[in-house]
Amino acid sequence: MTELIDRIVQFRASIPPHVRVIAVTKTVSVEAMRAAYAAGIRDFGENRVQEAEVKRSALADLSDVTWHLIGHLQSNKAKSAIDLFDWIQSVDSLKLAQRLNRLAQEQNRHPQICLQVKLLRDPNKTGFSIEELWEALPQLSELLHLQIRGLMVIPPMGLDEAGTLAVFQQAKALVEKIHQQTGLPLDQLSMGMSDDYALAIQAGATIIRPGRILFGARVQLA
Ligand SMILES: *Cc1c(COP(=O)(O)O)cnc(C)c1O
Repeated sequence: MTELIDRIVQFRASIPPHVRVIAVTKTVSVEAMRAAYAAGIRDFGENRVQEAEVKRSALADLSDVTWHLIGHLQSNKAKSAIDLFDWIQSVDSLKLAQRLNRLAQEQNRHPQICLQVKLLRDPNKTGFSIEELWEALPQLSELLHLQIRGLMVIPPMGLDEAGTLAVFQQAKALVEKIHQQTGLPLDQLSMGMSDDYALAIQAGATIIRPGRILFGARVQLA
């Protein structure tokens, strides 16, 4: 574990201090997550509600950790997600946002939200298209129990560096345009994973989501 701690400390030191590093811990053991915590990580990202539930209770003593949902949320798990996560970065439809708002109101919570946007067509991912996002913004801005903070972007697989950078730059331009035209206080841009975080930071990411580069290759889940 000391090796893991060293690797994470070095990674964090290589990232500009204003960029928030979410350690993506899907499939990662609770022990490795404790090592990440020892290395200074205070943000964990999970993509499954059930896995996060188990880990959150196993790590309940780490009370200053912020938990981020970064995977597609099924509507029947929305209530648990509100319980478990401080941030839901993967809000990918107006319907889901409205449901979360209703549940947040019932539970008297105000979760932080990112809207997941697809800047290029990508059959493997959910998310708002740019057109859908503009269309939904007036209604999204009325969901007063959600703190809509920004956008989450995942470029399609298989783009080269220039293509990936172009997607990230487009995301940056979009979040600024939304801010200007709607006044919504969107100031967060969650983008960049192990293979492309440097490009994302170059384009203005405020949040990056590395997994494998911190913890090593993931074991494939069935
Ligand atoms: C798995 C995942 C990551 C981390 O990916 P790595 O390639 O391990 O860095 C980041 N964001 C999302 C949404 C993911 O699903």
